[in-house]
Amino acid sequence: MAAHKESTMLEQLRRWRRDFHQYPEPGWCEYRTTSLIAAELSACGYQILLGDQVLSAAAVMGRQIDEPKEKARAAAQGAPQAWLEASSLTGLMAVLDTGRPGPCVALRVDLDAVKVQESQGAQHQPDQQGFASVNAQCMHACGHDGHAAMGLVLGQLLAQQHERLCGKIKLFFQPAEEGCRGGKAMAQGGQVDDVDILYAIHLGIHAASGELVVSPTGFLSSTKFDVEFHGTPAHAGLEPNAGANALAAACQAVSQMLGIPRHRDGLTRLNIGTLNAGAERNVIPSFALLEGETRGASAELNDYMFSRVQQIVDGCARSYGVDFRIRKQGEAISIENSPRLVHSVTLSADRLGFHVIHSRPFGASDDAGYMLERVQKRGGEAAYLVIGADLAAGHHHHGFDFDETAMVKGVSLLEALFVAALQPPAEITG
Ligand SMILES: [Zn+2]
Repeated sequence: MAAHKESTMLEQLRRWRRDFHQYPEPGWCEYRTTSLIAAELSACGYQILLGDQVLSAAAVMGRQIDEPKEKARAAAQGAPQAWLEASSLTGLMAVLDTGRPGPCVALRVDLDAVKVQESQGAQHQPDQQGFASVNAQCMHACGHDGHAAMGLVLGQLLAQQHERLCGKIKLFFQPAEEGCRGGKAMAQGGQVDDVDILYAIHLGIHAASGELVVSPTGFLSSTKFDVEFHGTPAHAGLEPNAGANALAAACQAVSQMLGIPRHRDGLTRLNIGTLNAGAERNVIPSFALLEGETRGASAELNDYMFSRVQQIVDGCARSYGVDFRIRKQGEAISIENSPRLVHSVTLSADRLGFHVIHSRPFGASDDAGYMLERVQKRGGEAAYLVIGADLAAGHHHHGFDFDETAMVKGVSLLEALFVAALQPPAEITG
């Protein structure tokens, strides 16, 4: 690639990445990020569908936000007003139809930040260079600022050459990846249904600058859930018999959940991370809330764990005479890349000088899986790619930062993959 193009790309990617980094937004609150991307891509010819038009509202999980407050914050931090007001849900899809028959090629990136207070350490580059987070307890500590910038700049590059391409480009900017809350809603919105090739990316997970993991393994299926128990309060001295003890039901449920037999078919996990219950020492506790998660090496193994959790909650609630409510707060499924796509990505990445690593454990979850799976089930091909990036500290650490040149390599690869797939058939002459 020409050195000039590379340095222009780095400049653009860095500008956007640093802007998003400075104004991070937690899941379902990405109003500023969404509006800015919508404005930019609309200006270069994309049709924009905002969150409400792209996501299935029924599949939205873990969204407890103060919408007017978040929109006011986004406006004060420079979100273009017209785009900001046009949707209640965050995230967007940008579509560019060349008008010539051909495949539909798509990219999915995520937008949200993590609830971490950013470091002010002397070694921390975002602070030194003046683009550290201005939002308290919120930081792009997982590289999604980079993903959003990459999706945006890729969109601009493809728009510049759309006259020479065929088919259709779809760019998905997914909200609320952290906690696995937005991916299923975006998949069930149905906008991936005409996608022939879908890529999803992540920067720097177990991969250094210059490396590309074309077939990461070990994505865990997961369900994040809250359980509420509702009982009856009563005086603990005068008539404890009149109460229905929600705390006791919750404690029983937790100890039984920890005893769910592990499955012979593969890895399973369960954690109850919080339990809050009761109001006062001398009152039979009428309320308990626990937050937990299950995981499994496959969707079936995770389903096994979560269905046992449901049985236990039901049984414990009955035995204490309390009501319960289970709320799914997030979900992810495992990911398997389409082999043919892995092959073609490998060839392109080799040509661009990547050090290609076929497979390496990912070790976490990503709800992009719902979109990838939906494309694959309908006969399309999909791949989750890990684009290597040197890190200053690990993901979700308050000192997290990544090598910005990794974004240039990633966008160059994606551009090459899109352009190759969207080449019009050679004209037959003579
Ligand atoms: Zn992430």
